[in-house]
Amino acid sequence: MSEIEYPASPPDWICERLLLEAERAAQNDEIPIAAGLYRYDGDASWQEISIAANATITRKDPLAHAEMLVIDDVRRRLNLEYLNGFVLVSSLEPCLYCTGALLLTRIDAVYYFARSDKGIRLCDAMDLSLTHKARGEKAGSSNHHPEILPVDSMAERSALLLERFFKQKRHG
Ligand SMILES: [Zn+2]
Repeated sequence: MSEIEYPASPPDWICERLLLEAERAAQNDEIPIAAGLYRYDGDASWQEISIAANATITRKDPLAHAEMLVIDDVRRRLNLEYLNGFVLVSSLEPCLYCTGALLLTRIDAVYYFARSDKGIRLCDAMDLSLTHKARGEKAGSSNHHPEILPVDSMAERSALLLERFFKQKRHG
């Protein structure tokens, strides 16, 4: 666990950039979810290292989630095994698959905008892990617990993008 105090929300420019990236994805007929990896050292300066939108439809790859794309990009480009010191910001609460990746790569903190309403999510996995850990059980608990920070002020806009996209899909 890092000792950095994380603000309740990433700065506005990051939130706006991610929502714009998600919106662009929708225009390209892709699910509007975007994620970015940032360096934040606690003094209010954020450095964007990578940003991506979902590419599951365009690439016909069910694993091409925005979070995975930025994790892969940064690890490859910077030749890093682990991502300690990095903060992930996603426009949607990470799914089970991405949660596994961010635990295994030891990302320090995760901000997300909209809360996911399906499947096993980041918060479910962390709740389960903390419950097992509290019982002193190794099985079911992770030894890495990133700081989880829901950005409520951005939740509605992000959820609306998704809602609109799927509505259009159904009627289009
Ligand atoms: Zn995912």
